[in-house]
Amino acid sequence: MAAPSTPPNPERPSPERHCPERTCVACRRKRPQGEFVRVTRTSAGWRVLPGKRTGRGAYVCADSPDCWQEKRLRRAFRGDAPAVSAQLQALNTPMDQPMTT
Ligand SMILES: [Zn+2]
Repeated sequence: MAAPSTPPNPERPSPERHCPERTCVACRRKRPQGEFVRVTRTSAGWRVLPGKRTGRGAYVCADSPDCWQEKRLRRAFRGDAPAVSAQLQALNTPMDQPMTT
């Protein structure tokens, strides 16, 4: 009775375009990959993991606060939408405190 699981779809090389395009899961706009924040599917759920490129990924506009709204992310991230929304907004919050590493 379970729905057939779709195998992970490897990205097809595009013959005409060198620049990879992605679609924002919130607004569905297509833009160059560099203009997105990548959200990665982990075993714990969807997380914003800068630099991580393994596993399933989804893309959200890096510069559009509208696209960080929980309700717009819910379609793609379901129960993880609040966490992803919070992470996206935290990433883009100007930091008052100096970074301590
Ligand atoms: Zn967007």
